[in-house]
Amino acid sequence: MIEKIGIVGSGQMGSGIAHVCALAGYEVKLTDISSDALTKAIATIGKNMDRQVAKDKIAAVEKDTALGRISTGTELAMLGDCDLVVEAATENETIKRDIFKSLCPVLKADAIVASNTSSISITRLGASTDRPERFIGMHFMNPVPMMELVEIIRGIATDEPTFIAVRDVTVKLGKTAAVSEDFPAFIVNRILLPMINEAVYTLYEGVGNVSSIDTAMRLGAGHPMGPLFLADFIGLDTCLAVMQVLYEGLADSKYRPCPLLVKYVEAGWLGRKTGKGFYDYSKTPPVPTR
Ligand code: NAD
Repeated sequence: MIEKIGIVGSGQMGSGIAHVCALAGYEVKLTDISSDALTKAIATIGKNMDRQVAKDKIAAVEKDTALGRISTGTELAMLGDCDLVVEAATENETIKRDIFKSLCPVLKADAIVASNTSSISITRLGASTDRPERFIGMHFMNPVPMMELVEIIRGIATDEPTFIAVRDVTVKLGKTAAVSEDFPAFIVNRILLPMINEAVYTLYEGVGNVSSIDTAMRLGAGHPMGPLFLADFIGLDTCLAVMQVLYEGLADSKYRPCPLLVKYVEAGWLGRKTGKGFYDYSKTPPVPTR
């Protein structure tokens, strides 16, 4: 029975996961190496819950109760009594492995560990822990409070009780689960990121400019936002990292990252989070950069 949920990493994803877990009634322990990130996370969660109160999605008292269920700290030791820990730290395999090495010894023997990785092999991450059978992928979508899907990814060693426990948590969070096998980038990013990469090739080859490509896909394919606007939202560094995992993991040249995407990342134009990507966000409305 899962009652206490720990979260490692309190960036955009970790704070969103804490938000939905606390509203669903779980006791949440949110950790990060950076105390600034924790302060920012609590402020973001409060602000996003205020928005839900204003839209009558939740009552003001629910917000206060949920915020009261979240405790924060920079020490992994505070996760010792958690039944499930969701790792949502930076998308870097060495960082994640180091976290699991420090985390597992402080956990209860039967605690489940889940990773929110967008693309790294769950089997490989699980094998680096003392509990591959209780290790699983729980891939939330951004922004977590708004997006309904959670991809659940079993590693080769993941056991059935772990899968069932994580699927039940997903349902209790009000989300819908899609089960994916453990192959590079799973389902959503396996399909979405090559489309975004192709949009960047379309720009690179001069088939269209930023506006015409995004308008074409919004109005011609019925997408709620164009692929280049979406790429800026995800973060161009994350987009490139996922394409590299696909390219290397599937050894197929069709996944090669577009050189223009590489160039934007080299320039530090990472999208919304740095203020500039395929659009310049210092202007309202944002202005295309090509
Ligand atoms: P982010 O950069 O917003 O947050 C990462 C956080 O991890 C930071 O606060 C950082 O301080 C913390 N961190 C780094 N090293 C740590 C350590 N050793 N111990 C504890 N905390 C540490 O990144 P994000 O967008 O929240 O992504 C987090 C994870 O979620 C990644 O694996 C990413 O692939 C995945 N993800 C991202 C998205 C997305 O759209 N951004 C969607 C789904 C999944």
